[in-house]
Amino acid sequence: METLEFQSEARQLLKLMIHSIYSNKDTFLRELISNASDALDKLRLESFRDKELSADLSDLHIAIEIDKEHRTLTVRDNGIGMTRDQVVDLIGTIARSGTAEFLRKLQDSRDAAASRDLIGQFGVGFYSTFMVADRVTLVTRHPNSAEGVRWESTGESTYTIDSAPDAPQGTAVTLHLKPADEEDHLADYTSHAKITEIVQRYSDFITWPIRLVPEDGGEPTTINSRKALWARPSSEVTEDEYVEFYRHISHDWNKPLETIRVQAEGTFEYQALLFLPSQAPLDLFMRERKRGVQLYVKRVFIMDDCEALMPEYLRFVKGVVDAQDLSLNVSREILQQDRHIQLMRRRLVKKVLSTVKTMMTEKPDAYATFWRELGAAVKEGLLSDPDNREAILGICSFASTHSPETPTTLAQYVERMKEDQQVIYYMTGDSRATVERSPHLEALRAKGLEVLILTDPIDEMWVDAVPEFEGRRFQSVAKGQVDLESEEERSATAEREKDFADLLAWMTTTLADHVKQVRLSSRLTTSPACVVGDTYDLTPTLEKMYRAMGQ
Ligand code: ADP
Ligand code: MG
Repeated sequence: METLEFQSEARQLLKLMIHSIYSNKDTFLRELISNASDALDKLRLESFRDKELSADLSDLHIAIEIDKEHRTLTVRDNGIGMTRDQVVDLIGTIARSGTAEFLRKLQDSRDAAASRDLIGQFGVGFYSTFMVADRVTLVTRHPNSAEGVRWESTGESTYTIDSAPDAPQGTAVTLHLKPADEEDHLADYTSHAKITEIVQRYSDFITWPIRLVPEDGGEPTTINSRKALWARPSSEVTEDEYVEFYRHISHDWNKPLETIRVQAEGTFEYQALLFLPSQAPLDLFMRERKRGVQLYVKRVFIMDDCEALMPEYLRFVKGVVDAQDLSLNVSREILQQDRHIQLMRRRLVKKVLSTVKTMMTEKPDAYATFWRELGAAVKEGLLSDPDNREAILGICSFASTHSPETPTTLAQYVERMKEDQQVIYYMTGDSRATVERSPHLEALRAKGLEVLILTDPIDEMWVDAVPEFEGRRFQSVAKGQVDLESEEERSATAEREKDFADLLAWMTTTLADHVKQVRLSSRLTTSPACVVGDTYDLTPTLEKMYRAMGQ
């Protein structure tokens, strides 16, 4: 037997679980069933691909066993199992991207409610068992391993690993439950009624049978209905069912912000059940970020993170697409080229964009949350998805000089435009404060012209690529000649240019190393001078970005 140490991040999370920051302890069972269900999906897939795999596929299921006398609860599956190395890698460490970031945030937030929200955002999977158990044993065998592995821990800094010669195919997790009265709200997890209730509440849609031996002994009975949510009429699915399904596929403990359903009939039949999250995923802007849509074929899980189904800028969309007419061993490469899949993707993208559009009018608060959390990702689509550019512009909002708090849509901006105003003014910068301090804004402000304040890094990119919104050009106030003068003012400036011709010429020569030209300006009202970029120059922020990328 070997004793090993948890990775330090895993240790931190375990500590949180033991001191149980999360109030709803019942959810540990959902996590175990979710893992068991994934393991069964993986085994079925693996055996498609690898004909050598010596696995028994005859009765794939999940079994729950209660031992009242020893106060244990076991969740068993006959799925893919784990090799010894996998146990160490998957259970002893947390490989999920964003973990370090998450833990840092958690340490920063002192109050319990905030921590709970963070935990909710992260989800803790297997470790949640330590909310209700003071010792957890996991016995597992991978089909390619001759013998199994036994893992055990009390959730403190170490765990033990041992061989388990007689382990059956799959994984069994046994919880040695904490004394019932020790914790204030610890329910009786040795009660058949309680377990049945939790399974039906959180895991009813799991497609594998979940069996429980009844209290009076006898044959195990299946306690979940196993109905695929996306195949049931919307009117029959409750809000709670959607929420639990979302949690299962997204590993996010929050509720989804919006649920989207698509049913396509005809030559290429499919159903989609998609969700918009209510918080930005932690890995939204990380390099190894994943896309969130799973592919099923006729109710059979085929793959996670299916990039053929959702473009990168909608990577936060979670959900399931179930296609009726695809081969079960379809590969990612084939999917990328399949014409039906491309059509399906186009339709799903349009549906997501139109759902957000509807939220703008029907659920303005939800829309505001959506945009605050995910808008920066959506705007990438202005560059990468020219076909949907108009639709994307239609759901964008931006900070603006019009209001210090409320962002504006482009349609609202256009509605407020002055009669003779031809263009949409914007200014990019690091933050609202920097932009507002800028002398470039002065003249526009003096004239009562509204300026969009663009502070996301991606803004620098799309403003150059997107020519216009409904026929109105985007015009940077920091570039070129911002044409704000009336005829009269123009001739007055021309007069003054003559008066100052000598001075301007002298300044242009003296400053030749630094600037191209010195001009009289009508854009300043209080600052004496400012530096203006040429129309095709990089903006200062973009310059900084390129420099940071080493270019
Ligand atoms: P997540 O499910 O979000 O990946 P978990 O903490 O729930 O995180 O599980 C960690 C990993 O351990 C899983 O991704 C899976 O690879 C492995 N695992 C957990 N339970 C099982 C199981 N019953 N069978 C096979 N592998 C499992
Ligand atoms: Mg899990």
